[in-house]
Amino acid sequence: MEQTFSPRIYVETTLAIIKPDAFQKAEEIEDIILKSGFIIPQKRILQLSPEQCSDFYADHYGKVFFTSLTDFMSSGPIVAMTLARDNAIDHWKSIIGPVNSTKARESHPECLRAKYGTSHLKNAVHGSETFYAAVKEIKFMFPDSVIEPFPSREANEDYLRRHVNPVLLHGLTELCKNKPLDPCIWFADWLLKNDPSEPQIGDPITVEEE
Ligand code: ADP
Ligand code: MG
Repeated sequence: MEQTFSPRIYVETTLAIIKPDAFQKAEEIEDIILKSGFIIPQKRILQLSPEQCSDFYADHYGKVFFTSLTDFMSSGPIVAMTLARDNAIDHWKSIIGPVNSTKARESHPECLRAKYGTSHLKNAVHGSETFYAAVKEIKFMFPDSVIEPFPSREANEDYLRRHVNPVLLHGLTELCKNKPLDPCIWFADWLLKNDPSEPQIGDPITVEEE
């Protein structure tokens, strides 16, 4: 049997941070972001407390650089942004480059960490590592944001049962009663006139009393 697939538009999103050492260069970096084909759906400037930085970098807890990292990240304002485009996570990672800015200057001189960072710690920008990290980090920086929730199969079926099936049943019953010459055109017209999401002006659906 022939199967039809409806197209689904899905744009990947990642979290970018302009760290305190590059805050003065934020406009320049945002310009590069836009020229690299990203859109910036969300952006906020904030300063995190050392405790918030510990939470954000909880996976690194216990490492020798952990305290320097939380001190550095809480030392001034940062710009947190969601970046969207296809393959956003990997693309942003390739633009920012390797973690150590000093080494990146040798190996990847064009990357943002080479251009704007100065050390292993002060490396100017952050990018989410994986899809799951991106979801978690976006939630951290933008707690109110809704991240592409796909409705469950049950929710879809419930929507169809409540809102679509009654309209179709009514229209198809009318179609049978009217027996128009061109049923497709007639039904399309009926649906336009009886779109339940539109305010009804004139000719409303009359519900017949049983
Ligand atoms: P990334 O930021 O690329 O995800 P990591 O998760 O390994 O890199 O580390 C988080 C941050 O901690 C780095 O961006 C950097 O600021 C800092 N960092 C990582 N490793 C070191 C290190 N060995 N010395 C100092 N700072 C480090
Ligand atoms: Mg990391």
